[in-house]
Amino acid sequence: MAASVHDVLLIGAGMAGLAAANSLASSGLRVLLLEAQHHIGGRVLTRRIGDEVIELGAEFVHGRPPELWSLIEEAGLTVREREGARLSFHHGALHSDDKKIDDTFQPLEDLKNFDGPDLSFAEYLNRKPLSPEQRGALIGYVEGFNAADHNQISTASLAAQQKAEGAVDGDRLYHVVGGYDQLAHYLAGRITDRRGSIRLGERAREIRWRSGRVTVLTGNDSFTAPQAVIAVPLGVLQSERILISPRPDAALAAAAELRMGSVCRFTLLFRKRFWADRAPQPDLNELSFLFAYDQMPPVWWTPHPEPGNAITGWIGGPRSTALASLEPRALGRLACATLARIFHIDTHEVQEQLLGCYTHNWQNDPNILGAYSYVAAGGMDASRRMTEPLADTLYFAGEHTDVTGHWGTVHAAIRSGLRAARQILNT
Ligand SMILES: Cc1cc2nc3c(=O)[nH]c(=O)nc-3n(C[C@H](O)[C@H](O)[C@H](O)COP(=O)(O)OP(=O)(O)OC[C@H]3O[C@@H](n4cnc5c(N)ncnc54)[C@H](O)[C@@H]3O)c2cc1C
Repeated sequence: MAASVHDVLLIGAGMAGLAAANSLASSGLRVLLLEAQHHIGGRVLTRRIGDEVIELGAEFVHGRPPELWSLIEEAGLTVREREGARLSFHHGALHSDDKKIDDTFQPLEDLKNFDGPDLSFAEYLNRKPLSPEQRGALIGYVEGFNAADHNQISTASLAAQQKAEGAVDGDRLYHVVGGYDQLAHYLAGRITDRRGSIRLGERAREIRWRSGRVTVLTGNDSFTAPQAVIAVPLGVLQSERILISPRPDAALAAAAELRMGSVCRFTLLFRKRFWADRAPQPDLNELSFLFAYDQMPPVWWTPHPEPGNAITGWIGGPRSTALASLEPRALGRLACATLARIFHIDTHEVQEQLLGCYTHNWQNDPNILGAYSYVAAGGMDASRRMTEPLADTLYFAGEHTDVTGHWGTVHAAIRSGLRAARQILNT
């Protein structure tokens, strides 16, 4: 039998696969990273339109998770903290009452003390004396942030998330100046510098394995190595469009206890920041986040304090499906009408300022099949079970395999990749 050229195959060149490959290549292993698409980064997807940098996937660095920050520093990238005015829109007017916003979301803070048997967030809310308005805002927040259905998401996972965020100062948001994808390209450069290879346009269709040997078949070729890391998104794994034989029953059963969420995220590029001229609202010049829970979409943000004439709209969870299926032009029209209502401007005036609407339908992307993962009620142990190696041969990585309460983030993906690399290096 011919010796394989590679020590480890990695499937999926998102942040998890890249972080794992970089770590293994740094330890002298010969790695081959196979990516279905013709670009790396996965759900880190940056577009450049003139001088504007538009993120279609991940945008924020949530707090100061050490793995992500050391990578940012190593890559020499500049990061700016998001700051400015947080406004809310209700009863037809804009308000800048930070205290009211904090009071509304206090039940989420209280989750840090949750230690009861797991239940869905919907059931959890049913036990709280809340006004319909506050209940709506809490559902909007949890569905928006987690891309989740509040009837399904685990309250224990939200509690773990609150604690995990608290530990990394997760309330503070940062932005990678010049685009998040620079981080993916930095890792790719390090991998190839260390004689690792990255093959684009190689979609794994079949993975055949036995102890100490894995063969990955793509449409074009086949590749063999003693070990492999499967770092494809949860949705792809759950769909079983990669035939893994023998079937990893335990890992797939664990994957079934997680859910792939959905979002609609789009950025509108305008000729000028028309909202900044709306006297007498002085805060509008420094607008960062805007919450309008009775509008569609309900969450908005600007690049403030960075310059730019963009404004981004966001909705997560089941309500995002209707918007996500719209073509950019129709989405842009709908969004302009919402902004016109919020800022009390004529819709046509807003539309005249619009240069373009940029979005990506993550749910329809065959290589992703959703936005990011969340834990269904009762599934708190599922991610940990997915980290168990199969015969020291097959390993799973990706944000859905995070065991630190940070599911659905870039740092969770990096952490999971580093964990899989450590497991391999320890064998
Ligand atoms: C709209 C949106 C906004 C987000 N915002 C943020 C944010 O602000 N901050 C944050 O921290 N996180 C954010 N996230 C989440 C973050 O982007 C992800 O958690 C993270 O990038 C996932 O990395 P990953 O490596 O696990 O998976 P991915 O990035 O999805 O990488 C998996 C790779 O596998 C490839 N693949 C799939 N099938 C195959 C196959 N058969 N063969 C070979 N390759 C295959 C895919 O093409 C992809 O490149 C956001 C996500 C979305 C969708």
